[in-house]
Amino acid sequence: MVLFGDYHTHTKYSRHNHGKGTILENASVASSKGLKQIAITDHGFNHFCFGVRRKDIPEVKEDIWNAREVTGVDILLGVEANLISTDGDVDVKVEDFEFLDILLMGYHKLVHMNSQKDFRQINLVNMVGSPFRPSKERLNRNTTAFLKALDKYPIDIITHLNYGFPTDTLAVAKLAKEKGTYVELNGKRICFTEQEILTMANEGVNFIVDSDAHTPDRVGECNEGLNLIFKLGIPLSQVANIDKFPKFLRTRGKN
Ligand SMILES: [Zn+2]
Ligand SMILES: [Zn+2]
Repeated sequence: MVLFGDYHTHTKYSRHNHGKGTILENASVASSKGLKQIAITDHGFNHFCFGVRRKDIPEVKEDIWNAREVTGVDILLGVEANLISTDGDVDVKVEDFEFLDILLMGYHKLVHMNSQKDFRQINLVNMVGSPFRPSKERLNRNTTAFLKALDKYPIDIITHLNYGFPTDTLAVAKLAKEKGTYVELNGKRICFTEQEILTMANEGVNFIVDSDAHTPDRVGECNEGLNLIFKLGIPLSQVANIDKFPKFLRTRGKN
């Protein structure tokens, strides 16, 4: 079994010391662990504490070129975008796809939302509500927002599904499968049950194991997901980055 790449890693471009390392450091650790490819996926632009700034993108690209030259690791430029409305809007613009190789999307707090109403219905309700016993109304609203986001955007990976934002896991995963989106088994937090993973697998959902590293030493640390894959006997053909490269939405068919 070979892990080909880690597609969810943060760097110092996730501001305010949230991400600790440089792109070169992430790539160097990836190289030392035998990974062939990584993605740099700092927090999305509307995250008012940690978000990467659009004006930093030219510097990010230059760092990627340099780190690729030095380490030989292939490096994709992505972003971990944020849900910003109940209508499934996400904080990427059409023009961002000129530089984005892949798009990750998850729910995060401390994000500029589309409107006060979206702030109340997405952030506030989920911050004060129980993560384990969401009301039916909250669960439906959260699920609908994710389904609409999957419909509107070419999302390659849903990050840490249900973390602070409970959804109908299977409904989201089923549409993800239909859209060619991978459901992440996050290296730090997996917020669905083993039974739910088995059900998703039976439905043909495709997973990806990622580290969500915020320090270079954690790049490639995907044991949380890998252990579950082996424990539950999930077919490796349904894990995008084991023994093969993932096929991302806008590169599909090219490799
Ligand atoms: Zn995240
Ligand atoms: Zn992350």
